[in-house]
Amino acid sequence: MSFSDFALAPDLLRAATGSGYLVATPIQQAVIPAVLAASDVLGIAQTGSGKTAAFVLPLLQHLLQSPPRGDRRVRALVLVPTRELASQVAESVRTLSRFLAAPPQLVALFGGVSINPQMMRLRGGADIVVATPGRLLDLADKNAVALDAVQWLVLDEADRMLDAGFAEELARVLALLPPRRQTLLFSATMPAAVESLAQALLLEPLRVQIADDAHNVPDIVQRCIAVDPARRTQLLRQLIKDHAWKRVLVFVATQHAAETIAAKLYAHGVYATPFHGGLSQGARTQALQELRNGQWDVVVTTDLAARGLDIAQLPVVVNYDLPRSAVDYVHRIGRTGRAGASGLALSFVSADTEAHMRLIEKRQGMVLAREVVAGFEPTQVAVPDRAPVPGTGGIKGKRPSKKDKLRAEAARQAGSTPPDADKRGPR
Ligand code: AMP
Repeated sequence: MSFSDFALAPDLLRAATGSGYLVATPIQQAVIPAVLAASDVLGIAQTGSGKTAAFVLPLLQHLLQSPPRGDRRVRALVLVPTRELASQVAESVRTLSRFLAAPPQLVALFGGVSINPQMMRLRGGADIVVATPGRLLDLADKNAVALDAVQWLVLDEADRMLDAGFAEELARVLALLPPRRQTLLFSATMPAAVESLAQALLLEPLRVQIADDAHNVPDIVQRCIAVDPARRTQLLRQLIKDHAWKRVLVFVATQHAAETIAAKLYAHGVYATPFHGGLSQGARTQALQELRNGQWDVVVTTDLAARGLDIAQLPVVVNYDLPRSAVDYVHRIGRTGRAGASGLALSFVSADTEAHMRLIEKRQGMVLAREVVAGFEPTQVAVPDRAPVPGTGGIKGKRPSKKDKLRAEAARQAGSTPPDADKRGPR
């Protein structure tokens, strides 16, 4: 299906084809007509499958068809979880509206940078705002932005926006919006518990879920290497050198680890830099820009970079520390293999994290071989078929089942300590 099959203005079609969008992706095929027909939408499709254009194009069409009322009130609001994603989505809006005779006024609002220029921009009026919730609320508190005329609301990375971390801010934003509006929710993941929250925001929505079949699933080779924790940095260095990898995203569990591992790699001649929420916004923007420009071979990051970021030619993602949940795993590895490209996702596993990796595999419906790299053979061995211990972390969101409880009780009565009772999931 080509974009000309949609009821989109010629200038929007020109921008889409000019961006190399010749054939609409499955999520675009399903969602664009529905959004144009004013339906609420819950769109679930793989990482890197073109969800942004699936909502930006019909939103621009709606804005074109309903000229501004001459006040400065926002008409379309896109909420995203990170500042980088706000910039990226705003850039898509700019790109796809570039041929319109009168492109809608777009303002991106996110924290970590001075609020004053954003206030000034809002004074000129905004048809479409792309924002992180915190900064948006700061501006609303200062009466710098009015949301009572929003006709279109988009939650990108909707399951993240609806989880506990954003719940309070999101509730405050929703209270500022008119109840009658078109609402569009998108994500690559939608845990069942979150979907009921999502449904509560939607009115008779079209639910589109693109199946994970061979045609739609991103082309990401997933591999797992068994290695002792203390040898991971050295192994990473060797892999980067042996394969001459450029543009590698390495996920670690903490900001501190991002700093130290990037520094260790750099000290050994690898162009590596950290990226995490403890850096200034200037440093964050610069690190990503320089990764995009090819100035860094490696960016060592926390889950800050796990959601939504679209970096072209990013062939390798490494889980140096495993993610906390299978949902985070999906988003992390989805930074590669985007827009039809292929990618490699490597996870380091040790005796300590073996059980957690198995849970991720179970949730993902896959089993990966544990590979061993010569010279890095693990000395610590995982207990075979070790069951996760209830109440000790394990996969996020997993409650101990009845069976888990019975097992724990049996272990308690036998007076034994379960194998990883002192662990709280992966580091
Ligand atoms: P997204 O999932 O929205 O982050 O998009 C992932 C990548 O796919 C981005 O680089 C988009 O520019 C690109 N893209 C989106 N739609 C299409 C399409 N129809 N054809 C080719 N590339 C696309």
